Amino acid sequence: MKVYKFGGASVRNADGVRNLHKIVGDERNLFIVVSAMGKTTNALEKVFEGLQRGDRAASAERIAELRAYHAAIVEDLWHGPVRLDAVEELFAELERVAADTVYRPEDAELWYDTIVAFGELISTAIVSEYLRHAGMPNLWIDMRRCLRTEQRHKDASVDLEASAPLLRAAVTGTGHNVFVGQGFIGGAPDGTTATLGREGSDYSAAVAANILGAESMSIWKDVDGVMNADPKAFPDAVQIPELNYLDAIELAYSGAQIIHPKTVKPLQNRNIPLYVRPFGDKRKPGTVIRGMSAPVEVPILILKKDQVLLTIRSRDLSFVLEEKFGTIFSLLERYRIKANLIHNSAVNLSLCVDNTWHIDDAVSALRDAGFDVLKAADMELLTIRGYDEAIYMRYAQIGPKVFIRQTTQSTVRLVRKRE
Ligand code: ASP
Ligand code: MG
Repeated sequence: MKVYKFGGASVRNADGVRNLHKIVGDERNLFIVVSAMGKTTNALEKVFEGLQRGDRAASAERIAELRAYHAAIVEDLWHGPVRLDAVEELFAELERVAADTVYRPEDAELWYDTIVAFGELISTAIVSEYLRHAGMPNLWIDMRRCLRTEQRHKDASVDLEASAPLLRAAVTGTGHNVFVGQGFIGGAPDGTTATLGREGSDYSAAVAANILGAESMSIWKDVDGVMNADPKAFPDAVQIPELNYLDAIELAYSGAQIIHPKTVKPLQNRNIPLYVRPFGDKRKPGTVIRGMSAPVEVPILILKKDQVLLTIRSRDLSFVLEEKFGTIFSLLERYRIKANLIHNSAVNLSLCVDNTWHIDDAVSALRDAGFDVLKAADMELLTIRGYDEAIYMRYAQIGPKVFIRQTTQSTVRLVRKRE
């Protein structure tokens, strides 16, 4: 079995879906994981926000746009005014959720997940039907029933042990050898829908590869492979032919948007190679990520955007690491805030964290617990691995915008104000 994952950009229109078919070619024993089409997840977030604000008209309008967008793709694929029952039913259900839900703020994450999950349900319904129509029988898999998550919404982890028998049962003895399942979604133990965090489809695919003992996993993307920097931010970016799991996990964690940070572990645990390959040209080699690789010869620059810098100090001037570390981190954990960089002095603890929904609640809770907290928004975290003198001089100089610089022998990390 192989696992292929196609992201939203690769299936954003009918040409993309046709190209998916072309890439799959006559491959069999294949588990295909698909994300929501194009910018659908962003649009569904707006549907949720309408519900949250009590603006049902706004939600309905977004859903109507999404209906039209997907209908156009279906019509283009079938060359006519075709409607797919599965897709119609999903839109009807989404409309019902948006119209009938009695929203309560404490359930925000549950309703967020319930709504945004439709993106992947709809995209896979279309892809599965289209492949069948194009002569490739396949089975549509409902990942809400196969990936059991922890009891948590919006950023849930998958319980591999609980999921393994479910997913295996869904694919064995079915008479099929091609499967199409949703990225990004799973089912919580209480039966509700859970999502795995934005861009989580890579992680879904890695979990499926782990459980099914896949020989390899491929992510088909709109880039040639993994680059040493984002070419939009750093013009002289080059492609890296191979990486080991450790480098890949560090890169993903630092914010390189090649793969979701949780993707590497399920693959590493079963030694499954991961190929990042260009959607536009199947012949190009892309990048391979596996246990052993040639050393990376170029510096790697990763910019993590939308960061917040929290500087925390105990009002009674307690030593922050010795006396207050546990209190601070258990408080942050309660609000699901993860530190991307930690810096301390005797009494100050600075944390660079993602800008998420609950930052302000966490800041209030810290203040209530006896801390002074300074919050600096609009920050970014630049990580440079394998820097040399020239790169250091160019990017890592302390200046008015740089708030923190951490340097080790091979890596520099800067917290700086957004440009
Ligand atoms: N559709 C989801 C998102 O846009 C998951 C993914 O693309 O991997 O975040
Ligand atoms: Mg996406």
